[in-house]
Amino acid sequence: MSDESVEVWEKVSCPFCNSTETEMIALFGQQMMTSQYYCHGCRSVFEAVKWEDPKSKAKSQKSKSE
Ligand SMILES: [Zn+2]
Repeated sequence: MSDESVEVWEKVSCPFCNSTETEMIALFGQQMMTSQYYCHGCRSVFEAVKWEDPKSKAKSQKSKSE
């Protein structure tokens, strides 16, 4: 067994063709809670809402004033 897939990204399905051959191209989309993905199936760019990490939630409240 190999650990070649340590990075467990959530597989996002393309809203256009339902393909899971997607790739995150930008960490943030037009909104903070969305990420931009590129679909290899239909070569479209779409945005998907990121999953919420309850652990980083408490931390991110530290400094939001800038
Ligand atoms: Zn697609």
